[in-house]
Amino acid sequence: MPSPAKKPAAKRDAKAAAPKSKAVGKEVRPGSADAPVRSGSTPQVPRGMKDILPQEQRYWRHIYKKIESLARGYGYERIDTPILEETSLFVRAAGKQSDIVEKEMFSFIDKGGDNVSLRPEGTAPVARAYINHGMLAMPQPVKLYYVGPMFRYERPQHGRYRQHHQFGFEVFGDSNPVIDAELIMLAHQFYKDLGIKTTVHINSLGCPNCRPNFTAEIVAYFRSKRSQLCEDCKRRMTKNPLRVLDCKVPGCVALKEAAPHIVDHLDDDCKNKLMRVLEFLDDLQVPYVLDPHLVRGFDYYTRTVFEVVLSDEQVIPAPLPVPAAPAHGHRGHQAVPEAQPVQEVPQPMPAVALGGGGRYDNLIEQMGGRPTPACGFGIGLERAILQMKALQIDPPDDNRTEVFLAQLGDQARRKVFALFDELRAADVRVAANLSKNALKGQLEAANKMGAKLTAIIGQKEVLDGTVLLRDMESGMQEIVDYNKAVLEITKKLGRE
Ligand code: AMP
Repeated sequence: MPSPAKKPAAKRDAKAAAPKSKAVGKEVRPGSADAPVRSGSTPQVPRGMKDILPQEQRYWRHIYKKIESLARGYGYERIDTPILEETSLFVRAAGKQSDIVEKEMFSFIDKGGDNVSLRPEGTAPVARAYINHGMLAMPQPVKLYYVGPMFRYERPQHGRYRQHHQFGFEVFGDSNPVIDAELIMLAHQFYKDLGIKTTVHINSLGCPNCRPNFTAEIVAYFRSKRSQLCEDCKRRMTKNPLRVLDCKVPGCVALKEAAPHIVDHLDDDCKNKLMRVLEFLDDLQVPYVLDPHLVRGFDYYTRTVFEVVLSDEQVIPAPLPVPAAPAHGHRGHQAVPEAQPVQEVPQPMPAVALGGGGRYDNLIEQMGGRPTPACGFGIGLERAILQMKALQIDPPDDNRTEVFLAQLGDQARRKVFALFDELRAADVRVAANLSKNALKGQLEAANKMGAKLTAIIGQKEVLDGTVLLRDMESGMQEIVDYNKAVLEITKKLGRE
């Protein structure tokens, strides 16, 4: 638990970052049901958020499998933290002046008067859990991974949502640069396992010892160009000058080209550690480029920072034709609000980060724990899926029905019930539509589901103690003994 002595400071931080929400105090009581309702309209998914429909789920299952396989292979244990945290956690970790804390958090006062936020990222909650549960007493390093939704109040656009999902790998209690390299390799390997070629952009943000030197260099460089900077960067110049290097406004991007390189101003220890990471990456054959202006959105990073981007070598197929939007969608005649994109066109995102991370050696101490070096990364699942679609990488449809059980009559239904259970126990993906009577409709359903076989039990089969097995591709039919049906079906599915 955080020490009680720290609490007032945390509360102050939380207050400072609390958004001035109309929803607090005045029109709407926090957590009340008095929210204004647009009369007559159907509730819509919140702006920048998405439903993940059944037809999308195979992408998610595929990705979850890859994450779990990497975690198992490299010895990372899963951790789940709450979606809601004290706002002060993110203020202390990401920094009061970070874009995330200044502009992007979903924060509110709960019914008990506490300032809480939907988590915008996964590292700070996992670091909190490491301290709260005394994981420092465990054999180090402690290797953890998480998967789940994150919330950022951003302007929704292609690949940028207000709710997105991330998985992340974190290592606590080891300062060896080989850990940085292992994590970078894992982020790269995740995409390789999906069939996507990526390159890693890498830099070092130094340590408290050398950071003031290059921060001064950066400030000196941009000071003379202040009038050409965007308004946000003018503010950053006084509050958080390194963030100017991360600005995406074209004018600022152009100015950045000739800015001093951070690596030229690192102290010897930080420089050596960066070199060690690069050597390990060479050994691991992870493609990387040194990006001397790479900085990241959170203040907690020290030394190594990196981002994973689509590789220049990645062959990009011609874009798929976009299916026309149906004339009448499931929303009937209701107008779709402008903000809801109906169809997202899959397109590769060469310039966008597909994941990123770095070392954060001071975060645990900054949050009240004992000094503990740490390093980690986060990867956005929606962006990974958008890349898969754009590159026409089709995940296996591992939930597809293998056998459809069709029946005619009540007695047959009873036999189908029993067979259903036996097949399920034999790990066969099986489906039926027991409320249907006509065989034609049932065969159509089997076809729609892509079943390989349909097992038909009609009145004749009930009397004979048999099952009619139909191969849905060839149309060939075969009568088999009811008691041997499971064996015959598993054989035909190539399970034996
Ligand atoms: P960050 O925590 O900003 O480094 O983000 C880590 C990764 O999460 C990014 O590289 C993206 O893949 C993904 N990501 C971050 N923000 C969003 C967002 N608003 N929408 C979708 N994906 C995001």
